[in-house]
Amino acid sequence: LDPSDEHFSPEELDVEKQLRPLSFDDFTGQDQVLENLQIFVQAANQRGEALDHALFHGPPGLGKTTLANILANELNVGIKITSGPVLDKPGDLAGLLTNLDERDVLFIDEIHRLSPIVEEYLYSAMEDYKIDIMIETGPNARSVQINLNPFTLVGATTRSGLLTAPMRARFGIQSRLQYYKTDLLTNIVQRSATILDVPISMEAAIEIAGRSRGTPRIANALLRRVRDFAQIKGNGSIDITIAKYALEALHVDAHGLDEMDNKILTTIIDKFKGGPVGISTIATAVSESSETIEEVYEPFLIQQGFIMRTPRGREVTEQAYKHLGRVKGPTQGG
Ligand code: ADP
Repeated sequence: LDPSDEHFSPEELDVEKQLRPLSFDDFTGQDQVLENLQIFVQAANQRGEALDHALFHGPPGLGKTTLANILANELNVGIKITSGPVLDKPGDLAGLLTNLDERDVLFIDEIHRLSPIVEEYLYSAMEDYKIDIMIETGPNARSVQINLNPFTLVGATTRSGLLTAPMRARFGIQSRLQYYKTDLLTNIVQRSATILDVPISMEAAIEIAGRSRGTPRIANALLRRVRDFAQIKGNGSIDITIAKYALEALHVDAHGLDEMDNKILTTIIDKFKGGPVGISTIATAVSESSETIEEVYEPFLIQQGFIMRTPRGREVTEQAYKHLGRVKGPTQGG
């Protein structure tokens, strides 16, 4: 249940697809983002133009890929999907770009991980819908400029801070996705349960939602695991008893913090007297990369009020001590 884990089995990926909202109406939450997108799409549709390039940023599992697909649906165009690390050479990108139909969406996940050469190559495509390609080889090799169909680039990143300024400037639409409140996640859990055809009580849906780290992907993943428990240990339908039993067995705690979240908090308290301590020191102590901590774990811990960022590093809050049943005292505070 690692929130950053995208390596689902083929069946799990199928379920992910099945649960993915397909239209604006289907999409829960992120109201401000959605309201704006709806206007931009409507305007682009009326003018018959490609939608401006759009950048979505925010932690994994909040709906960036889903929104890219919804944009294509609402624009009534096709979508091609790729990701930053996959696009090795400008040639890979050229292949994709020249195959786009008019107004199509090109979705690049993890756009902050594009190589500088590919990124630069993308600039003229985004700006003028033109690219240079090399034809022939040897002494006859030359570059020719070709026109592309107007298209919309949708980029997704967990770290907008790592995007270069020229890249960011080329996105006319930029939206930050936020963690979801429990009531919204409850709706998502109920919607998913309906699609999966598993009965679930309101109470159980709220319980699962409240423990999902504010993240739809986790809510859906927990729902599927709880469904397994209901099927094997219960009568197939999900009530509060089986939900609590399953979540306990999955080591998901009441705040939805997972093992790594808790490990980070305990480490800061036990090894660094509650902080302040630098992110790379924390990373080493919990054997995780600084990037993952900054992208995946820290934003949620900050949002929930367990960690504070200070100029001298990260500090845990009173609430973290309380959550872990610790006492903040002179022996620990130093
Ligand atoms: P990201 O690209 O930000 O990592 P995804 O778009 O892949 O996240 O979303 C992960 C899963 O969560 C999707 O399969 C979808 O089923 C679900 N999901 C995300 N956002 C929503 C939402 N607003 N409403 C319902 N389900 C959602």
